[in-house]
Amino acid sequence: MIEAKIRNIEQGKKSYPEVKFLTYKDRKRILITGGAGFVGSHLVDRLMMQGHEVTVVDNFFTGRKRNVEHWIGHENFELLHHDIVNPLYIEVDQIYHLASPASPPNYMYNPIKTLKTNTLGTINMLGLAKRVRARLLLASTSEVYGDPELHPQNEDYWGHVNPIGPRACYDEGKRVAETMCYAYEKQENVEVRVARIFNTFGPRMHMNDGRVVSNFILQALQNESITVYGEGEQTRSFQYVSDLVDGLMALMNSNYSQPVNLGNPEEHTIIEFARIILSLVGGDSKIIKKTAMEDDPQRRKPDIGRAMKYLGWHPKVPLMVGLNKTIEYFQNELRRSRHSERN
Ligand code: NAD
Ligand code: UDP
Ligand code: UDP
Repeated sequence: MIEAKIRNIEQGKKSYPEVKFLTYKDRKRILITGGAGFVGSHLVDRLMMQGHEVTVVDNFFTGRKRNVEHWIGHENFELLHHDIVNPLYIEVDQIYHLASPASPPNYMYNPIKTLKTNTLGTINMLGLAKRVRARLLLASTSEVYGDPELHPQNEDYWGHVNPIGPRACYDEGKRVAETMCYAYEKQENVEVRVARIFNTFGPRMHMNDGRVVSNFILQALQNESITVYGEGEQTRSFQYVSDLVDGLMALMNSNYSQPVNLGNPEEHTIIEFARIILSLVGGDSKIIKKTAMEDDPQRRKPDIGRAMKYLGWHPKVPLMVGLNKTIEYFQNELRRSRHSERN
């Protein structure tokens, strides 16, 4: 009685985004590891609004409570401060396994931790999936293709990765995480899904995570030089985060268990990309060239034939639309950080 009253008072103070009502039969208990990060928090929003029960597990290495704070206190939502390198015992129906640093400066900061998260952490999540009979989706990466010799990259390509280079902790960590998924599928009948995610951008990317989209937008907004690493002839293909979330959910709920590329096939050189951002932001930043990154993949573009065929998925948000939303987000973030510096 008194508990119900306290809950009403607390919930009365906070208004949540609208959540659909699902019957017990349709409502799933969903775990999102890394759910306080950039991609994870958008997935949380979508699954919560669909009416599911969502548990986020995060150690806040690169994620922030702020990304999910609008759900804290909601009866369908739970946030656990936990490092997945340690075992986790909970009861769930589906696991979206996203926990891992994702930007090169973040994953190179502590390569051993990156390896532990992708190997021991993935084993723990597969052990959990096995025990509770949950389906697990691994957020893998286009980095499993390394510096590819095949263009565009399809899922049958085995990749070209330097196993002892600076990116290896992430690339090889994700490759072995995929291997583990299929070993648990074969030996223990765990249902697995593997998404090979290509470069993704959008609001809630971390300001200082060093990825090209956040670097270039922030540099342009602050009239600083735009730093192109190397000659800028290397290419990337950028997808907007809402398209990725659509793809992850379609894959999780499909019957297809082989790896699937999720990315936008529109490819640009990095120097072109610098010019696009400069033209959208305005200002008078100069484009300067800096030392190339070691082992930087030279060309990257997904072949998305498999996702189209088995998931009926393709990206919908045009690059310029996504970039404008992201620029607006970073403008607000800059205002916010200036404001908190003043106070
Ligand atoms: P992010 O850094 O914003 O999010 C990762 C989250 O995982 C963070 O909240 C972090 O605190 C958490 N985390 C890291 N190690 C952990 C641990 N040991 N235990 C618990 N939580 C831990 O990155 P993101 O861009 O949202 O990426 C999410 C996933 O998607 C990652 O697995 C990444 O490898 C994959 N991915 C992302 C991209 C991209 O362009 N964003 C591309 C390919 C693959
Ligand atoms: N595990 C976990 N949560 C669970 C079940 C298992 O974190 O609900 C961990 C467990 O600590 C183990 C790992 O997952 O280290 C792999 O589990 P599995 O059952 O495959 O291995 P075993 O326990 O037999 O070594
Ligand atoms: N890059 C750049 N300037 C920057 C940051 C990145 O030229 O300030 C380049 C980087 O060398 C790479 C591409 O942009 O070729 C994409 O880098 P990012 O770190 O975003 O992701 P990656 O695809 O390498 O994981």
